[in-house]
This record gives sequence, C-alpha cells and structure tokens, in this order.
Amino acid sequence: MNTLEIIRAFGNEFEVAGLTVNTRIDLLEKQIIEFHPRSVVVCKKYKAEELRIKIGDRCKILSGDEGLIEITRRGDYDILVSALVGFAGLPPTIEAIKKKKRIALANKETLVTAGEIIITLAKEYNSEIIPVDSEHSAIFQCLNGENPDDIRKIILTASGGPFFRKDKSEFERVKVEEALNHPNWKMGSKVTIDSATMMNKGFEVIEAFWLFRLAKEQIEVLIHPQSILHSMVQFCDGSIKAQLSAPDMKLPILYALTFPKRYYFDGVNTDFKKISGLTFFEPDFNKFECLKIAYDVIGEGGLAPCILNAANEVAVEKFICGKIKFTQIPDLIKDALNSISNNNSSDFESIMESDLRTRDYLLHKYN
Ligand code: MG
Repeated sequence: MNTLEIIRAFGNEFEVAGLTVNTRIDLLEKQIIEFHPRSVVVCKKYKAEELRIKIGDRCKILSGDEGLIEITRRGDYDILVSALVGFAGLPPTIEAIKKKKRIALANKETLVTAGEIIITLAKEYNSEIIPVDSEHSAIFQCLNGENPDDIRKIILTASGGPFFRKDKSEFERVKVEEALNHPNWKMGSKVTIDSATMMNKGFEVIEAFWLFRLAKEQIEVLIHPQSILHSMVQFCDGSIKAQLSAPDMKLPILYALTFPKRYYFDGVNTDFKKISGLTFFEPDFNKFECLKIAYDVIGEGGLAPCILNAANEVAVEKFICGKIKFTQIPDLIKDALNSISNNNSSDFESIMESDLRTRDYLLHKYN
C-alpha cells in the first residue's frame, strides 16, 4: 500500500507489472483499475475465481503459491517489492533473484530463515538486495560511498515498543490489547506483538547480520523511543553516520526503488522544532528475553533462526487468541529451540521441513 502511494506520487517514473493480495480482492480490483498491472496473484484460490468474474480479462489473474512463482519467474519487471507476510515470501523472492532483479526487501522471514541461501544466491546472480525496513535502509544509506571494511559497528535503533517503561514483574498480566498498542508505527498485529516482545528487533539483528556481513558483536541495539533516528553506523575512526526522518515507511521504500538516485519528494515532513528531544537507552536483555534469544540464535547458525521464526509465529498467534500469557512467548520459543533438532544444514528443503516441524511440535504441545 505504501509502495503504491509512492508510485502514485511518481506516476511517470514507475509502472506496476504485477500485484498480489491474499484475499482482499475488492482492494485489488481498485488497484487494477488505477495501476493497470499486467498480471495479479490472489493467494487464496476461491477468491481468484471471484475476481475473475468481476474483472474478466482486464489483466491476467494467477492464484496460490504457483501463481507467486509464475509472476516472479516471468521476469517482465525490474524490481520486486517483496512484502508478503510470513514464509510465503521466500520462494518468489528466490525466483526474482534468479532473474537478476533488484529486490526491495520488506519481508522479514526471507533473511531470518534463509539468510545464507539468499545472500549466496544474490551474489551468484548479481541481484541487488535493498532493504526496505527503516533500520536497515538507514544503515544502507549510511554505508553508501563507504568501505565496508571501515565499519566498526552498526547501531540498530528500537522504539522499545509499548512496554519499554513497564516493569518486568507486570509482564505476567499484559493484555492482548495493550500489546497491540504501538506508540509510533501502525503495523499488522503480528509485527506489533513482535515489537512489544522486541522479537522484531531480534529479527532485525539477524537480518543485519546477513545484509551487512558483520560479526554479531558488531551489531548493537539501542532504544530510541521517538523513532526519528532510524539507525547508525560507527566507522573505524570513531565517526558516526545516522539517517533521520519522521517515521514513515514511504522514505525507505522510495530509496529502495530509486537507489542510487534520490528523487524529490515532499510527502514526509520532519520538523525538528516540534520534536521535544531525542533520547537513547540501553535495552534490557533480561526484560526482553526474545531479543537475547535472537542474538544466541545467530551464534548457533544452521536451522536455529528458522526454528526461532516458526516458534515465534505460533507463540504470538496463541497469545493473540488468549491461549498463553505474554511471558510465555519466549518460553515456547526456547522450548522449540531445545527440542527441534538443528542439523546445521541450510538448504531450502531443510528450512521448509524444520519450519513445519516446529509449528507441529508447538501446536500439539500447547493446544
Ligand atoms: Mg523495523
């Protein structure tokens, strides 16, 4: 949606080759009329049929996972904005890399679960991966023109989520509605809960590890509740570069589409006179256990990040449905990491399999 807003603002610069939705065909129908994509994918097949009846042969309608593969494999585009939620984003992203396309990467699971495969493939096929996440975009922008060997460390900022000021002893009683109430960013419920547990930041640490090829000790997290400074890089000489703006995903999306150019855009206003202050705090790893688990998982390697991702998804779902307490989210994740074997392979089939095994294990045990 944010991407289409950018495309609307730069009508003559971009053309929409394809669009995907899960089920929202009413929205897709409007988008087809406005943006004229050549093909679209409706992930749920029965909804694809409904759309076919509505729009006829206005554009090609594909469906399901095969549709996602077909639309990316076709290659009639320059940039894939990979923003599907969850694991489904992985196969089409791989197809686009093999077509040597630029990937504007907004799907977290891609690098969290399959970082090694993706980065190796991207290198092999000479496909550019440009991060869309605000933190990674900030680091990517700070690194432009720099020698990667000169990086001392990167500092990922985190809003701290809704519970930054809450005492850990109160976590037991956290209600779903409280966790869904994020102070700075409007996001889907899964990501908002991930932000409350700080697992979201943990995933971002794993992504940064793959994107910028650093040791995990070179990746720091800093709480910055205003979400104005989106992340920074410290270089070997001690100097630090940061990227700042009002929190709005349109800016990282625009940069991923236009890099290495910058386009004139006045859709996001950052007024420092209205910002009362920028503050920074060290994260509490004891309070935000999920963040600590994510760091541990980087050291473990292999399938551990995939198990972490799947376990977290199940745990968050269970929390949203009221089946487990907020404090049990890290417990379920630790349980899965201890119980599902990590045989250190990292091929696509093993990743898919350990994803399923983790879900199965937790769904049965915490029914
Ligand atoms: Mg982020």
